[in-house]
Amino acid sequence: MTNRGCLAQRLRVVIFHIMPTQLNPPRESVVDRFLRYVRIDTQSKEDQTVVPSTPTQWTLANMLAAELEQLGASHVRTSEFCMVYASIPSNLPPNRSVRPIGFIAHVDTSPAVTTTNVNPIIHSNYQGGDIVLPMDPSQVITVAQNPVLEQMLGDDIITTDGTTLLGSDDKAGVATIMTLIDVLMQNPQIQHGPIAIGFTADEEVGIGIEKFDVQSFGADFAYTVDGGTLGEISDETWSARAATVTFLGKSTHPGTAKDVMVNSIYALADYVLQIPRDLLPETTEGRVGFVHPYIGNADVETSTMKILLRDFELAGLEAKERLLRDLAKATERKFPGVTVQVEVKDNYKNMKEVLKDHPQLTENALEAARRAGLTPFMEPIRGGTDGSKLTFRGLPCPNIFTGGHNFHSKLEFNSRRGLEKTTETLVHLVQIFAEAR
Ligand SMILES: [Zn+2]
Repeated sequence: MTNRGCLAQRLRVVIFHIMPTQLNPPRESVVDRFLRYVRIDTQSKEDQTVVPSTPTQWTLANMLAAELEQLGASHVRTSEFCMVYASIPSNLPPNRSVRPIGFIAHVDTSPAVTTTNVNPIIHSNYQGGDIVLPMDPSQVITVAQNPVLEQMLGDDIITTDGTTLLGSDDKAGVATIMTLIDVLMQNPQIQHGPIAIGFTADEEVGIGIEKFDVQSFGADFAYTVDGGTLGEISDETWSARAATVTFLGKSTHPGTAKDVMVNSIYALADYVLQIPRDLLPETTEGRVGFVHPYIGNADVETSTMKILLRDFELAGLEAKERLLRDLAKATERKFPGVTVQVEVKDNYKNMKEVLKDHPQLTENALEAARRAGLTPFMEPIRGGTDGSKLTFRGLPCPNIFTGGHNFHSKLEFNSRRGLEKTTETLVHLVQIFAEAR
């Protein structure tokens, strides 16, 4: 980059960051938008074959499509699968063309906790200490478990009332992308290339993204805005498989069961207890993967257990699958008459495999966060995003923070600063791509 470029870049930073009063405010603040969206119940549902898995997701999708139109976005369209697409044309001079940039967030929330009647609570000007959620005092966001609270003094923290999920995952992503568009529309002096927007359904249950139309999206790379702590950028998820272990026994009337009945429940119980303790989600963190039995059905004749397998390395994932198959054989030997079947499916792969060839995408995201006054850092995601699959379908997708914490829990929270800094980062990011030459 030339010196002139650097100076221009610095000036732009100064204009946006030091004197935000020179920018026209969005029509609706990101906090107000967020509070509106979280009140809409968009919980998705496991084990459905249709997308969207719940009709309620349409409420938010249709609202977003209407609001995109009102904001002046182009080519707003909603697919039969509840995906909302839109684009914002470049405002660069005709002799400057830059690559279109995509932004993606999901409208659904986790099936783990209800989002019916979400009642967001704003804890204004937080002064430290544990936060007790008003409608269920047993739900406490503690400083001990959330040391990030120590950096949030003076912020307005947004929680639930303790009875529901907040749904910041991923309404924060939706609200910040919508506010990005709003800011750009109110401030044509902010230069940007073409922007493609995608709001997806059923991310949490993993079935929505198959229905995402990569071809017509309008960009050949994108960012999912679906992360956590401010400054956290991810170009890596772990690889995921899901096992279904089936235990086949033999049922009879219990009155005449002697020497006939083979109760598969005991085999299932023993199998689960044989999984090493140090391989569980409760005992692992960082870059260590896990094996997680999470739902099952116990019945004399047929019992089943679903088990998640996660690892950042393929070899580690293979080893975990081997463990489940070895345990199956050992269980059959221990429980004569019981047959144990293990069926394993691939869910998604570590997107780093592809993103390592697109370092500019993460570098630009880091730079955007820096310009927003944050200290960015790279963190692998202990989970999947829409990007993990899109990346392997030809749409490389690093992930950007949203300021949210404690996803999939009644203790979920975000904050005014979290939402504002995420929005600011997105505004910087589109400018960084427009500076590229
Ligand atoms: Zn999410």
